[in-house]
Amino acid sequence: MKPLDQLKPSDVAPLVGVIFDLDDTLLDHGRLTEPAYGALFRLKEVGFRLIGATGRPYGWIELLSRQWPVDAMIAENGSAAVLRNSDGSLSPRLPAAAERRAELLSLAARLVSQFPSAKITSDNGARVVDVTIDVGESCRVPADQIQAMCRIARDEGVATVVSSVHLHLTYDFPDKAAGAVRIISEAFGEDETAARRRYAFIGDSGNDAAAFAAFKMTFGVANVSASADTLTLLPRYVAPFPMGRGFAEIAAALVSQKRAVNV
Ligand SMILES: [Mg+2]
Repeated sequence: MKPLDQLKPSDVAPLVGVIFDLDDTLLDHGRLTEPAYGALFRLKEVGFRLIGATGRPYGWIELLSRQWPVDAMIAENGSAAVLRNSDGSLSPRLPAAAERRAELLSLAARLVSQFPSAKITSDNGARVVDVTIDVGESCRVPADQIQAMCRIARDEGVATVVSSVHLHLTYDFPDKAAGAVRIISEAFGEDETAARRRYAFIGDSGNDAAAFAAFKMTFGVANVSASADTLTLLPRYVAPFPMGRGFAEIAAALVSQKRAVNV
């Protein structure tokens, strides 16, 4: 990972949009800070399309897409998405796997009874495709127990994704990169190759791995170092500070280089 101050105008020149993770990237332990929120507006002012990409529930992005300066948002690690149309209306995108969610709820109940340090998350009511177990948000579950839960789930044909806070159980086999490329293609008519070159990705942890590998221009907030062993490819640039402050630094670097290109 290169320090952010080495970012060059030629890195930013091809970019038309920025895809960003929420938890521990834009948000500090779940909270939105003023510098991080302001950074979204600065990115918009220089013309970037903005796409939020989170493991959080579909119900959350439906609300946030109405309120934040974003063009689209992806939830449940790429399984579900919302496109904000130019007239302000929303177009939801939901997969067929949503019909099998009851089976995942039953598996999650069995896992938390077997591993009592884990809990069913408090945001499951707003999910439509996956089911999540809290492994780091309001409790701390040892890494070997998280891996054991993943093995049990996979033996039952269920895909798992682990973020800094949650273990996701799903039949949709999603990832943020595929979800982002799909919505970029549908909404903005860009093919997959163009999307990977023309959109930057900002993230911090294991459920960002596919996006760090897929997009050409990638950025980590400083706390990405804590997840380095869960990432096959590290981001190209890293901010000096973690979470929302790091996000604001990355946004400022992108804005500054974009202005240099546009002069
Ligand atoms: Mg994150």
